[in-house]
Amino acid sequence: MKATFIGPPGAGKGTQAKLAAKSLGILHLSTGDMLRSAVKAGTKLGKEAEGYMAAGKLVPDTLVLEMLKERLKEPDTARGFILDGFPRNVQQAEALSKIVPLDLAVYFHVPLSDLLVRLVERRTCPKCGRLYNLKTQPPRKKMVCDDDDTKLTHRPDDTESAVTTRFEVYEKETAPLLELYRQKGLLRVIPATGEVDEIQLEVISAMRK
Ligand code: AMP
Repeated sequence: MKATFIGPPGAGKGTQAKLAAKSLGILHLSTGDMLRSAVKAGTKLGKEAEGYMAAGKLVPDTLVLEMLKERLKEPDTARGFILDGFPRNVQQAEALSKIVPLDLAVYFHVPLSDLLVRLVERRTCPKCGRLYNLKTQPPRKKMVCDDDDTKLTHRPDDTESAVTTRFEVYEKETAPLLELYRQKGLLRVIPATGEVDEIQLEVISAMRK
């Protein structure tokens, strides 16, 4: 199974992709996570990407494509994967289809009005990448990860101004992918406003069909 998860920022696709990849025994490949690791490690790619990311803009296609192409050459991708955050525009989707055709595109539908609150309340474990929401999915102990006790962080692009830019970028660049995958017969729409576990059941059933 080779799938992509699409949705506006804060729709929960990262959380759902992690859970689904684990239960199906396939990889979770998040271009956002890869780029954040590059920024943290201070690599050339990280230095080039950092400014775009902090402003909520897309990192240029050539950089992201090169990074993903390299990752897809690894043998572990043969057992299948969920792409989370890629493709982000039609050019990336076309480039991807030449490297590896997808079986499925899962779209997480959430009204934009719900999303700002979700993002501003979002916190991440910098060590294991687990996501929390201070309102809806808080950690057991205040501000530390349940799994490894690391202090949770707030992503620099989850501020109100970067989030506003990310919504605009999503509407203009990423939303057109829905029509593209619908036409190819690959699109499955999941209403993603309920509980994480309920949404996960829908995701797994869409992926098994
Ligand atoms: P995400 O974690 O998917 O929300 O991504 C965080 C940020 O990383 C985005 O706002 C972009 O700046 C960058 N990014 C992640 N994936 C891509 C992509 N496929 N194309 C361009 N930029 C990306």
